[in-house]
Amino acid sequence: MTTNINNKKVLIIGAGLGGLATGLRLAKKGFEVEILEKNKQAGGRLNQVKKDGFTFDTGPSFFSMSFEFEEFAKSCNIKLPFEYVELDPLYSVNFSGSSKTYQLYKNIDKLAAQFADVEPDFKVKFEKYIKKSGALFHDTVDLVIKNNFDSLAGYVFTLMRVNPVHLPVLFKSFYDHVKQHFSSPEARQIISLVAFFLGRTPFDTMAIYSLLSYTEFKHDGYFNVKGGMYKIVEGLVKELEKENVKFHYNTEIVDYSEENGKLESFTDQNGKTWKSDIFLVNSDAAWFRGNIFKREKYAEKKLDKMSWTMGYLTFYVGLKCKLPQVNHHNYYLGTNYEAYANNVMKNPDSLQKPYYYVNVVSKHNQDCAPEGCESLFFVCPVPNLYYKENWDDKNEIVNSIITDFSERIGKDIQPEIVSKTIYTPIEWRDQFNLHRAAD
Ligand SMILES: Cc1cc2nc3c(=O)[nH]c(=O)nc-3n(C[C@H](O)[C@H](O)[C@H](O)COP(=O)(O)OP(=O)(O)OC[C@H]3O[C@@H](n4cnc5c(N)ncnc54)[C@H](O)[C@@H]3O)c2cc1C
Repeated sequence: MTTNINNKKVLIIGAGLGGLATGLRLAKKGFEVEILEKNKQAGGRLNQVKKDGFTFDTGPSFFSMSFEFEEFAKSCNIKLPFEYVELDPLYSVNFSGSSKTYQLYKNIDKLAAQFADVEPDFKVKFEKYIKKSGALFHDTVDLVIKNNFDSLAGYVFTLMRVNPVHLPVLFKSFYDHVKQHFSSPEARQIISLVAFFLGRTPFDTMAIYSLLSYTEFKHDGYFNVKGGMYKIVEGLVKELEKENVKFHYNTEIVDYSEENGKLESFTDQNGKTWKSDIFLVNSDAAWFRGNIFKREKYAEKKLDKMSWTMGYLTFYVGLKCKLPQVNHHNYYLGTNYEAYANNVMKNPDSLQKPYYYVNVVSKHNQDCAPEGCESLFFVCPVPNLYYKENWDDKNEIVNSIITDFSERIGKDIQPEIVSKTIYTPIEWRDQFNLHRAAD
């Protein structure tokens, strides 16, 4: 039996990337799509702040797996509505107290040269590690990664179908896996640090995520978008508008009604009722089930007992000078990797010596800053709001990061700052309805 989709209306709650992409796929299939968004513009966590003449991307600063975007464009029969550029080096890493900055090139010889003094046989080890990560990627991509799991049983059942040669990575941490391949602390830390930016630490993230090393270094790469990451959102919105998709901003769903156990309508903050044939919720699933559907299983106290990721402290800084000594994409680490990792999720005191990431947005996108200026985006993994509720010390923490960064790059940027915006986990939670500002 085929369903006639013509004139069927789909109401999407949330204009994040998920809502926009699904909306376009559905509109292209003939559905009538309408999108509601609580904020004043589309994008969700992939957003943009324009302030004091500077433009900042507020969330994602790069992407990998570009082939997914290409597949998306092909299936929607459109030209990808933004241009992306490959980053090379992918990123740089500096350890505090060291004048050396590692440049993480995709070219294995250039990469291995960076480690010559600490891990002389890096090239052989890295090739072996990447081969394993590649096999893991190709054996799980269709079966596990691109699948949706509604139950733990379904997930475990699928894992049992994965080539048993990969079984060990299901029982090891990312760090332990990397540790088996490399002997120097530098290589171990640099290769496993990506886990901090997945919301957890390399010590409690499963080794299955080592497949990301393959997608980063070999299979694909890291990419930035010409004009800034927000061009992805602007491009998608344009494509949606061509399909007559209607957007309603500043519209937050606060309640719902049901009839005979079936969702009937949603209600926004102004009391307006929204009906549709099909509803699609792009808001954070746990938050929405607890706060809007009021399901007992997702009540705040129950959610607090589940395992969550860290939160993020992000800040956006406009400088009235250039920073030629800094790359596009940079990680700044301390010298107590494991102790830091053990503390960062739950212990606010660990912020005294934070690890952080700096993206120089204007490096590739000159339009993001006035001439002779630079726009910077800092991300620091921090305890989520369950572990650190009070952020009155945000200026103190931000200033300590700025001081540390200034020391490492050999230039005091404090007097050069002409614009500063800080998002603590409180802003992340309140803007996008995220439970305790975690994922
Ligand atoms: C600091 C940071 C850095 C990141 N860096 C990267 C990166 O470099 N690369 C990468 O690939 N990923 C990165 N990510 C992850 C990436 O941003 C997210 O995975 C992605 O943007 C999530 O999209 P989404 O559509 O699923 O959710 P969201 O973007 O959260 O979209 C949900 C939308 O629903 C709206 N909404 C919620 N509740 C309601 C309601 N009741 N009524 C109406 N609207 C509602 C929200 O306002 C939001 O717009 C980063 C995330 C953060 C926070």
